[in-house]
Amino acid sequence: MNRETSRNRPITSNSMQLPDGEIVLRGTDPTVSRALWCTPMRLEARAVRSALPAGLAEQVQLTGAGRAHSEHAARTAAWQDADGIGVVGIAGALDAKLQAGDVVVADRVWGPSGPSQARQLPAAALVAAQLRATGLRVFVGPVVSQDHLVSRAGDRQRQARAGALAVDMESFWLLPADRPGLVVRVIADTAGQRRLPPRTLGRVRTAVRALPALAPVLAQWGAALGSREVLLPGPRSFCAGVERAIEIVELALHQRGAPVYVRKQIVHNRHVVAELEQRGAVFVDELDQIPAGATTVFSAHGVSPAVWTAARSRQLDVIDATCPLVTKVHTEVRRFSDRGDTVIFIGHAGHEESEGTMGERPGQTVLVQDVFDARTVQVADPDRVTYLVQTTLSAYDVDDIVSVLRSRFPRLRAPATDDICYATTNRQDALAAVADESDLILVVGSENSSNSLRLVETAQRLGTAAHLIDDAGDIDLGWLAGARTIGITAGASAPTTLVDEVVDSLHGLGPVSVQHRQLVTENIRFTVPKEVRTL
Ligand code: SF4
Repeated sequence: MNRETSRNRPITSNSMQLPDGEIVLRGTDPTVSRALWCTPMRLEARAVRSALPAGLAEQVQLTGAGRAHSEHAARTAAWQDADGIGVVGIAGALDAKLQAGDVVVADRVWGPSGPSQARQLPAAALVAAQLRATGLRVFVGPVVSQDHLVSRAGDRQRQARAGALAVDMESFWLLPADRPGLVVRVIADTAGQRRLPPRTLGRVRTAVRALPALAPVLAQWGAALGSREVLLPGPRSFCAGVERAIEIVELALHQRGAPVYVRKQIVHNRHVVAELEQRGAVFVDELDQIPAGATTVFSAHGVSPAVWTAARSRQLDVIDATCPLVTKVHTEVRRFSDRGDTVIFIGHAGHEESEGTMGERPGQTVLVQDVFDARTVQVADPDRVTYLVQTTLSAYDVDDIVSVLRSRFPRLRAPATDDICYATTNRQDALAAVADESDLILVVGSENSSNSLRLVETAQRLGTAAHLIDDAGDIDLGWLAGARTIGITAGASAPTTLVDEVVDSLHGLGPVSVQHRQLVTENIRFTVPKEVRTL
């Protein structure tokens, strides 16, 4: 990023302070954005200003209560000059689960006619997650703006039935159609309370006291505004082994009905697991949690022969979803160890694939995780050593380990074909091709996903900041300040819809242009096992 910055420069209306304290001159850099925070009441304006960093307080505008004042504010130069408009204040709850002091971040704002007059706010999930991280109770959903005080219980119930969380009298008329918007409201009245003075006044004051807690996140939202380029390297997301494993569980549920038990996570992604759970899959860590005779699926990562033996003793009806490329490595372990070799397995301790693969011949396999292990590993006969590799590692790490092993065991044998699978390699290569152009890389995947973690490391090794996120809610707004080109990929176990949601959320911070960078096209497909195959 090429910006004129300083931590000591005085803050003016033409500058802004980023959350890390850096002061950026807006006039010298068109990529730096200016937010305007609209607060309908003086009490609200004062509360928000009091907690904003120096220099940002002047970007809070008292806009007045109600539709007429809001429409007037939307014609002022300050409103028209801003790069994004945030509406901040208090609101009345419509949904009975909301309590006084709860925070509502609107993902849609409806006009008086209801859902037919909707304005979408795609960055709501990002802001809500950031607010939750500060300890606030935060809800995301529709807010409806009315042009009169909604005091009748019947009116409020009608709006609640339509799905609105809260009601205000300004947001719809303050939000711009052509720039990013944000609506954050603290609940003053709960759904059952009357909205008539003087009782209302005390509740307003109580809610206003909660507003300063929002200020740090409002500042981060302002700093994250701006236009962006998103690079989507391909391939990304599901591989053939993951698609097959998910399909096996779906077919088992369809053909045999719930529950279908799955040993371990079918693939390492919490969204996939949660969705299958909703459909009747039951995930367990060990077989003794499964009733005797029940339908049981083994995950894509594979299991050791000991697990098969235990399943047989419990008479479980097993469907094996082990990826065929993992099965190939199991076969190699048996082949090389049965001819007398020690098998050095390059992988990660505790990973299910390592445990399952090494479990093929526990007495003749030894785990090597890194170069240090490679330098110190002991084998029975240095002339009879083979190495095999976990399918989801990075070639970069493995090459270093193998060269150390070769220097120690000159007759080291390798598998006939690479164990690191096509999907792992393709996703790493595609990401590497965009890393240099990107200010930031976001990798969608769960923290127990080995191939997703390797993608983060791939970007970091190339000098680009990279973060693993389970979904859009994991994005730290602070990462986005100044990040104008963002590469977004997904591990082999992460659904592509999650990438779409991340891109959508960025649309809520400014214009986004999306470029697909397809390095290779994958057309591999694995058939499902006969137990669930249909003719
Ligand atoms: Fe199979 Fe590779 Fe996918 Fe793992 S990442 S499930 S080994 S295709």
